[in-house]
Amino acid sequence: MPSYTPMIQQYLHIKAQYPDAFLFFRLGDFYEMFFDDAIKAAQELEITLTSRDGGGDERVPMCGVPYHSAQGYIEQLVEKGYKVAICEQVEDPKTAKGVVRREVVQLVTPGTLMEGKGLIEKENHYLATLTPFADGTYGLAYADLSTGEVRLTLLSSWEETINELHAIGAREIVIGSDSAEEWVRELKERYGAAVSYEDETSLRDEWSVVAGHVTQEKLRATVARLLHYFVRTQKRQLDHLQPAELYQVDQYMKMDRHSKLHLELVETVRSKGRKGSLLWLLDETVTAMGGRLLKQWLDRPLIDQRAIERRLDFVETLKTSYFERHELRDKLRGVYDIERLVGRIAYGNANARDLVQLKKSLVQVPALRQTVDSLPLAEADELAGRLDPCEELVALLECAIQEQPPLSVKEGNIIKDGYDEQLDRYRDASRNGKAWIAELEAKEREATGIKSLKVGYNRVFGYYIEVTKPNLPLIPEGRYERKQTLANAERFITAELKEKEALILEAEEKSVELEYELFVAIREQVKGYIPRLQKLAKAVAELDVLQSLATVSDERRYVRPQFSADRVLAIQGGRHPVVEKVLGAQTYVPNDCYMNRKREMLLITGPNMAGKSTYMRQVALTAIMAQIGCFVPAEQAVLPIFDQVFTRIGAADDLSAGQSTFMVEMLEARRAIAYATQNSLILFDEIGRGTSTYDGMALAQAMIEYIHDYIGAKTLFSTHYHELTALEGSLERLCNVHARAVEENGKVVFLHQIADGPADRSYGIHVAELAGLPAPLIERARDILAKLEQAAGNSALAHGLETGPENGAATKEALRPPRGLESNAKSAAGRADERSARQEAGDRA
Ligand code: ADP
Repeated sequence: MPSYTPMIQQYLHIKAQYPDAFLFFRLGDFYEMFFDDAIKAAQELEITLTSRDGGGDERVPMCGVPYHSAQGYIEQLVEKGYKVAICEQVEDPKTAKGVVRREVVQLVTPGTLMEGKGLIEKENHYLATLTPFADGTYGLAYADLSTGEVRLTLLSSWEETINELHAIGAREIVIGSDSAEEWVRELKERYGAAVSYEDETSLRDEWSVVAGHVTQEKLRATVARLLHYFVRTQKRQLDHLQPAELYQVDQYMKMDRHSKLHLELVETVRSKGRKGSLLWLLDETVTAMGGRLLKQWLDRPLIDQRAIERRLDFVETLKTSYFERHELRDKLRGVYDIERLVGRIAYGNANARDLVQLKKSLVQVPALRQTVDSLPLAEADELAGRLDPCEELVALLECAIQEQPPLSVKEGNIIKDGYDEQLDRYRDASRNGKAWIAELEAKEREATGIKSLKVGYNRVFGYYIEVTKPNLPLIPEGRYERKQTLANAERFITAELKEKEALILEAEEKSVELEYELFVAIREQVKGYIPRLQKLAKAVAELDVLQSLATVSDERRYVRPQFSADRVLAIQGGRHPVVEKVLGAQTYVPNDCYMNRKREMLLITGPNMAGKSTYMRQVALTAIMAQIGCFVPAEQAVLPIFDQVFTRIGAADDLSAGQSTFMVEMLEARRAIAYATQNSLILFDEIGRGTSTYDGMALAQAMIEYIHDYIGAKTLFSTHYHELTALEGSLERLCNVHARAVEENGKVVFLHQIADGPADRSYGIHVAELAGLPAPLIERARDILAKLEQAAGNSALAHGLETGPENGAATKEALRPPRGLESNAKSAAGRADERSARQEAGDRA
C-alpha cells in the first residue's frame, strides 16, 4: 500500500467501504475503475481494459467510461444485478491541495432506480426488506423509490412470503447482516433477485408506522431497515416517501404465482411479455400512474363485496356516460407521471422540463374534476373532491418557468421575465449591450465608408470588428486595435467594444447563476406540495383505471356480474376474454357454466384441443375480473366471491426450478389441497399425466374425492382418464361435462362447446381410423379396449352402459343440435344432425 500513489491510495480507501459495488471513480471527464473492478467491468460492458502506473510494482488494471455517457453503462450493470457506487470529486481541483477530495454521492442498486430505461412506465419498481421472526412469521416492507409508495405486511409463512415477493416483483431484497446463511441461500434459490444487507438500528423512532396493530413492533424494525438502506445508498433527503401503508394478504383474493402465471394475468407463459395477458386486454389506461395501479388491482382482486360493488358502480356509470368518459380520457392524456415527477423533485434531480410537465398536468385537473362531478353517482363526488388542482402551485410555475426550457438547469433560459427583479436587471443590461453592439456595425460603416465591415463574435476573442484586406487602408489611423489576422481579413477591437462586452458577459454569467438559484428555490417550494400532489396522483390513477375498465367493458360487450351469497356460479354465454379478442368475437364459441351447492365439481373430458383448458381458464378469469370491479365477458353472470384461486395448468415453466415435472405438479396440487376452502376455486388440468397411468389415475381420483369430501371448493377438473367419469355415480356433487367434437367429411371438428355428460371413450381409436390406419389394426384396438374395460372392473363398464352416448342421460343432450355449430358455421348448415352428434368424439385414450 505505501508505494501506491496518493490517488490510488484514496481509491483503495473508498473502495474498501463498497466491496460489493463497482466503484465509478471520477477523474476529470471520466469515471475510472481499477484493479478487479476494471477487469470485471471491461468484460461486462465490453470496453477496453488498459492499465496505469499506480506507484506499485505492477501496473494497475484500469478501464473507464466518459462522464456524459455514464448513465447507460450504470444501467447495464444494475440490470445485471450489480451495484454501482458513484464517487465524485467534491472539491474544485484548481483549489485543492494534494489529491482532490472524493466521496461516494450515491449507490445505485437494482432496487433503487430513479431514472433511465430500467424504470418501466407502467410498472412499479420495488425494493423489499424482509425480517424473519422466531415464530415463523415474516415482516415484509417494500417501496418504490421512484413513486414514494411504501407498504408493509406481516406474512404467516415462508410460502406466503415467497409468493408475495413474486407478486410485487421486488428487484432487490434487503435483509439483516446477521441472517442465517442457509436461509439466504434458500431465499436466493426461491426468489432470484439481488440480495443486500442492512441493519435496522437507530431510524426506528423517526418513522410513524400505521398504528393499532399487535405486530407493530416487528414491522417497525422492517420499515426502519428499508429506510436506513435508502438513506445509506441515496445519501439525501427523500421527502416523497409516503407513510407506510399496512395491509394483510387476506384482505384480498389469494393467488399463488403459479396460478397467476398459468392464467396469464399480467404476462404470458410463453413470451413472459404483457401482450396476450389479461392485463394487456384490460389496459386502456392513458396515464402511467393508471397503468401501474391497474396492475396492482389485478394482482390483488378484492373479497369485500361492498368494495367491489363500489368499483362496479363507478365502472357502470362511466360505461354508460359515453361523452364524459371520452372527455376524461382526453384530459387524462395531458397528465404526465405526477408520481414520478414528484419523486424527482424530492430527489433533487427534477429539471425545468419536469416542472413544466407538472404544470401542464395540473392544468388538466379542473376540467377532470368538473366532469367527474357531473357524473350521476355519489362516489364520483368523493373522487372529484380528491382531484386537487393545486392552483397556487400552477400560478407559481406559470409565472416563473418558461414554456420550453432546456434540459440543463445550469444554462439559463429557465425563468420567465418579470419573475425576479434582479434577473430582469441582468437581462436588461445584457440586452442593452447587445443592442449597442448591433448598432455599432452601421455606425462604423458610415464612419469609415467600408460597406463590408462586420461586427462578429467568437468564444476566444469575444466581440470584434472585421475588415477585409482590400479595405484596410480606409481605416483611420488609431481608430481600432488589431487583434487577429486571417487569410483575407483583419479583426479589430476598441476599448468601448470591450467594455460593453465585459458588461454583457458579466450580466449573462450572473443571470445564469441567478436563474439556477431561482430554479432550485422554486423546486424547494414545490417540495412543500408533495403530499398534496401524491394524493392527487392517487385520485388520477384511480380515475384512469376506472375509465379503462369501463372502456373495455363497453367495447367488448361485457356485463355487470352479480354476486351470490349462496355459492352459486351461473355464467351464461361466457367467453375467455383474451382468446375472444385474439380470435375475434365471430369465431369464439360462448359457453355456459353452472355450479351450485349440489354441483360443486365438474369433471371435464374430451379430446385434446377441444377447448377444455380455455373453458376452465375463462371461468377463473371471469371471477377475477369481477372481483377487481370489472364487467365480465358473458351474457349474464352470477358468481360467488372466491377467497382464493388455485390452478394447475400446463407444464411450460416446470423444468426451470430443477424439479421433475411431476414433482412440481404434485407440489402445486398440494398447495390447493392444503389451503383451499369451500369458497375457493380450483382448476386442475390433466393432473397426474406426469406418471404411469395407474399411478396418475389413482392420484387424480383420490384428489377429486378428497376435495369433494373434505374441502367442497368449486373445482373444474379436466382429465384424459376416462375411467374417472364413473365417479359421478359415487360422488354426489360431481358432474361430468365434456368438450364436444364431431366428424365431418372424414375430419374431426372441435366445436369448442361444453356439454353435460362424459365424452365418448373410443374417440382416440376413431381419430386413428380417420387418419387412415389399416382396418385390421383398428379392429384389434377396439378389441383391446373392450378387454381393458372389462378388466378395469365393473364400475367403468357399468358407467359406460349408464351414461355412454348410446344410452342414458347424456344421450338426450348429445342428440340436441350442437349450439355452437348453429351459430358458428352457417355455411355447413344441416350437418349438425343426429348422426354427427352421435359420432361426437370423446376421450383420446
Ligand atoms: P384442450 O385444453 O382441450 O386441449 P384448449 O382449451 O387448449 O384445448 O383449446 C385449443 C384451442 O381451441 C385454443 O387454442 C383455442 O384457439 C381454441 N378454442 C378453445 N376454446 C374455444 C372457443 N370457445 N371458441 C373458439 N375457439 C376455442
